[in-house]
Amino acid sequence: MSQQKLIYGLIGYPINSSLSPRMHNAAFSYLKINAEYRLFEKKPQALGSFLSSLNEQKILGLNVTIPYKEKVVPFLNSLSEEAKLIGAVNTIIVSQGKLEGFNTDGEGFVKHLLEELRFELQNLSIAILGAGGASKAIAVMLSKKGAREISIYDIDSEKAKALVNHLKQTFNDIKFIQAGSVEELNIQDSGLLINATPVGMKEGDPCLVSENIIHKDLLVYDLIYNPSETKLLRVAKQKGARIANGLGMLLYQGASSFELWTNKKAPITIMRNALNEGVKEL
Ligand code: NAP
Repeated sequence: MSQQKLIYGLIGYPINSSLSPRMHNAAFSYLKINAEYRLFEKKPQALGSFLSSLNEQKILGLNVTIPYKEKVVPFLNSLSEEAKLIGAVNTIIVSQGKLEGFNTDGEGFVKHLLEELRFELQNLSIAILGAGGASKAIAVMLSKKGAREISIYDIDSEKAKALVNHLKQTFNDIKFIQAGSVEELNIQDSGLLINATPVGMKEGDPCLVSENIIHKDLLVYDLIYNPSETKLLRVAKQKGARIANGLGMLLYQGASSFELWTNKKAPITIMRNALNEGVKEL
């Protein structure tokens, strides 16, 4: 008797393109798991009914993307410690009819830094552009990993203020600064600069940081991976800084989701190769 295929996938709206099916399907195939990762583009009015039908539809796990990372929370039965701290979920496990929420975005970012880039986080001073969902997930994980100081700038000062206040309440031995401008970010004394805004995705987008302030002791990490080298990364490279784009974060957040769903070690090289093939076609 042939075994029924296990179903996993990504829920979002709209989903214009995603590299996640390639990455996860390559991993399932490599480990000979009879499973498929699909895209579930669901309109907001269909979100609740879709989530309550996961068990019935034999869907065992989901990734969650824009605009649902916070919106799914009320539909879940439990949340991991990280998901609670971040207030958002990017991974759901369906287990015995119950929906469990996790957030692997920050973990993926940190794993890429620690395991692949061999970048030390202890006692680090960090500057972050953007205070949206990705920034929050990353800032929480960096705080858990022993950062000394985190300064955050967002064009929407209320968002930056809310994030800094949330972090201050949660981690009282770390210095958090709400920067009123890019210039107020403490980049001179930072070891890590993160772009967690969408600025850099479009051809004519500016480089948000003045090149004079970028120094060679900095790792400049842009969460954007398409294009693979934003203006910020180009300038940083010219100034002798280390650079990384967001493909590593995408890989490691996916690997963490895969491990939560399957209880098997994610085949990182296979998943990375699938992503590298996928970006060529974007
Ligand atoms: P988000 O929730 O919309 O947050 C982006 C934040 O940046 C918003 O608060 C936005 O403010 C702010 N912003 C926009 N323009 C700015 C500027 N010129 N200066 C300062 N702040 C500005 O989006 P997100 O989900 O956090 O994603 C952020 C970026 O990370 C996107 O490029 C996304 O593709 C990328 N990302 C990558 C990964 C990965 O795995 N590599 C994962 C998640 C996200 P307004 O809302 O007022 O515009």
